[in-house]
Amino acid sequence: MTAAISIDVLIIGGGIAGLWTLARLRREGYRCVLLERLALGAGQTIASQGIIHGGVKYALGSSGHTDASRAIARMPEIWRRCLRGEGEVDLRSARVLSEHQYLWTSPGILGKLGGLGATLAMRADVRRVESDGRPPIFRDAPRSVGVYEVDEPVLDGWSVVEALAAAQGAWCLRPASVRRVDVRRSDDGRVETVSVHTGTTLGGVEFRARGVVCAAGEGNAELRAHFGEPISLMPQTRPLHMVMMRGAPGPLFAHCVGASTLPHLTITSGRDRSGAWVWYVGGAIAEDQGVARDEHEQVSAARRAIGEMLGWIDLDGCAFATCRWNRAEGVPASQSGVRRPEGPTVERSGFGNVVYVWPTKLAFAPLAAERVHAELHRAGVHPGGGADEAIDLPAMLEHAPIGPRPWEGRMVVSEDGTPKIQDVRWSSDRSATQA
Ligand SMILES: Cc1cc2nc3c(=O)[nH]c(=O)nc-3n(C[C@H](O)[C@H](O)[C@H](O)COP(=O)(O)OP(=O)(O)OC[C@H]3O[C@@H](n4cnc5c(N)ncnc54)[C@H](O)[C@@H]3O)c2cc1C
Repeated sequence: MTAAISIDVLIIGGGIAGLWTLARLRREGYRCVLLERLALGAGQTIASQGIIHGGVKYALGSSGHTDASRAIARMPEIWRRCLRGEGEVDLRSARVLSEHQYLWTSPGILGKLGGLGATLAMRADVRRVESDGRPPIFRDAPRSVGVYEVDEPVLDGWSVVEALAAAQGAWCLRPASVRRVDVRRSDDGRVETVSVHTGTTLGGVEFRARGVVCAAGEGNAELRAHFGEPISLMPQTRPLHMVMMRGAPGPLFAHCVGASTLPHLTITSGRDRSGAWVWYVGGAIAEDQGVARDEHEQVSAARRAIGEMLGWIDLDGCAFATCRWNRAEGVPASQSGVRRPEGPTVERSGFGNVVYVWPTKLAFAPLAAERVHAELHRAGVHPGGGADEAIDLPAMLEHAPIGPRPWEGRMVVSEDGTPKIQDVRWSSDRSATQA
């Protein structure tokens, strides 16, 4: 049995790109459904460090403003407006974990920002903070450690997804399982229907849509192959091997900087269900060499680095685990080498009514959604009304739940095609893995 749902736009993928686009299109009057295969935010979005970059990280080590730093400079204010309830999406219930991101210098480089000093000293959004104004973690730091405050908020990614789902959740759906997906096109190649079949007695559903938005992050590569689309953007992934440290002495939201263009460590924080602080550690340590390390080596490297750069902190009693994530991005086929695109990438297929989106950064979600809307408009996909009408759920669809935080587990597809949460394995004895 196959049910039919008629809409203006089908959005595939429930990360920040899909959710923000859904909110933006519904506001314009489009009747939409967002289809998520695991859980909302369960890809990169909840796994992100939640920093709403304003460009400081991109200016590190450069002698002036880059294209990326110019493009991203507007983002913190756009997000702040949404957090106040004055923007295009309502994020009033999302949690701001820290109003500012901090930079600190490791004791080894004598409190100077090395080669970065000239760049950062010129920025109005970076201020040196003296002992009283420093975050509590730096109270016992040697005087040689410099601490700087950056005008970039850090958000709890999970609560951002929850805030978006609170308003849009009725249109965010998840199939019980997926056995087969069929696409039917019109004579001129435009996609007319996308059907999802469970291969069980629950049957399937056919979405009749005038436009399709692929916002599936890493899954966009598979969708592109599935739709057989002629587009010039190539999906690329850049892996990260993140470290989680449970039982940290308190919250920290900071980059440890040196002379390199990448912070040595970028630490953000959250609480686990028992209320214990978890440090979520990225930065250079999670990139190339960190990706090549196995879990045990990565935990040892992180312990060593935290010991060197925050030597006054006691790590006894902390438990460690690691998790691997791929940053999924779209790049022009002409780009050589794997590097981060300057901003969000959005492209419409050669056949006309399928739009692919990769925001590149959580921070870029508003700009990505604006460009998706413009592409749909150009493709002649306009609002048909009924944006707020409820969707009649066939048996094989349910409202999509929200994914876990990285330290609570990871969503995967089990062998029978249904989504499940895989536990994190913690270790306090210098070895740890994620199952
Ligand atoms: C460890 C890490 C830290 C980061 N930190 C920051 C940060 O501090 N600040 C910042 O601005 N950016 C950060 N980023 C980047 C940011 O997280 C991403 O750019 C952003 O979340 C991408 O959003 P997305 O919606 O495109 O993808 P995703 O969040 O990956 O969402 C894609 C969704 O599509 C679903 N999906 C996949 N295939 C299918 C399919 N076939 N059918 C249906 N659904 C499907 C997935 O389950 C997933 O829910 C970080 C990224 C990582 C990995």
